[in-house]
Amino acid sequence: MSTLDPLMDDCFSHQKGLLLHDDAIAMLAERLGPVAGMETVHLGDALGRYAAENVSAPRNVPSKDNSAVDGFAFAYSDYAQSRKLKLGPRIAAGDAGDPSLPAGTAARIFTGAVVPDGADTIAMQEHCTVSDDASTVMLADGLEKGANRRLSGEDVTAGSLLISHSHLLRPQDIAALASVGIAQLSVFKRLRIAIASTGNELMDVAAAASTASVQTFDTNRPMLKALCNDLPIEITDLGILRDDADAVATTLSQAARNNDIILTSGGASSSDADHIVRTIDRLGKRHLWKIAIKPGRPMTFGQIGDCVLLGLPGNPVAAFVCFLLYFRPAVRILGGGGYREPVRLLVPAGFRIAEKKTGRREFLRGWLEADRRIGTVARKFEPDGSGLITGLRKADGLIELDENTRTVAPGDRVTYLPFSQFGISGG
Ligand code: AMP
Ligand code: MG
Repeated sequence: MSTLDPLMDDCFSHQKGLLLHDDAIAMLAERLGPVAGMETVHLGDALGRYAAENVSAPRNVPSKDNSAVDGFAFAYSDYAQSRKLKLGPRIAAGDAGDPSLPAGTAARIFTGAVVPDGADTIAMQEHCTVSDDASTVMLADGLEKGANRRLSGEDVTAGSLLISHSHLLRPQDIAALASVGIAQLSVFKRLRIAIASTGNELMDVAAAASTASVQTFDTNRPMLKALCNDLPIEITDLGILRDDADAVATTLSQAARNNDIILTSGGASSSDADHIVRTIDRLGKRHLWKIAIKPGRPMTFGQIGDCVLLGLPGNPVAAFVCFLLYFRPAVRILGGGGYREPVRLLVPAGFRIAEKKTGRREFLRGWLEADRRIGTVARKFEPDGSGLITGLRKADGLIELDENTRTVAPGDRVTYLPFSQFGISGG
């Protein structure tokens, strides 16, 4: 049985009426599962991949008790008797063997060096005075037992779960794996994703120099490829598909055999000139998703064989928003990372909306701004409902107005989804 079989469930077919955003997300989260295979990679290639196994720590970090400072190591029981101790051995980081400390002495010790058997406390060298003949050391007052000692296992304990299955591997996770001596691990393979634009009016931007008359440059394909930048995928560029049923069918059926996902933009409605929808009907299974959001609908969602097809709206702003809201979670789930709810900040609005349609969710292009009088507020790009790329560029996130919202007054709390959590930094 294919992992995607649940997609065929009737719950996905919302032909009547509009699908609410939350229901669309719930279906993605509940019905999709990982389709990516697994492979073993070296740590250097693990960044940005999803772990395909639970990884437990094979040893403690630090492996042995060691010194957090350059100074003198001693037994607290000796220190309690006298601040002045005989100078014992010298122990540096990386010294071979397991050092030990004769009773009543203090060892010269350096940061990272193993604390000798018999010592439990370390004084910083700045707080100690060595006698002129270097035979004794006067230790500072007021040290607590165990001071400046890093305990074995205080960072990572042997046997503890270090990386859990589906976890997205970040630089700090690579550090944790290296620290316990794990050089490779099993991760989900990169999903193979084919990207196409559709529309007779479109021209590839690469041909810009050699053309005089242009209707519309293909904006979505470069944008979508850039949006995919941080995802663990391999992209095949299918170029621009003309509004021709046979050509679309030929390209998509071939792409479906060689890819896990096909991502298209444009042609996602049900008019005569929209061939994505009818092609899926011909070749596979289609669920026309009319989602009650703005910007965005309609979108096409379906599959050709085992290949999932997501058809974004043609308008670049709508394609951008739908990519973040639906495509990214779908890729995450199919790629082995599981579903993760986006973080929503609740911030006062720095704008007014006199009349919003109820029954649909709106995602306005916005940004956070520090206001000295009222604190941080969310601003939005004017004018309302604009499909302008300029608004996307001005924005640093999406302001989410839910289905029940009718009006927004300055100071009202609104939810804000920062772009940073969708892999878009800066702005
Ligand atoms: P469609 O869904 O194909 O009817 O497209 C809706 C609108 O988006 C039309 O104005 C298209 O010209 C425009 N559009 C579709 N695809 C792209 C694209 N790749 N780049 C820029 N605009 C597009
Ligand atoms: Mg079109």
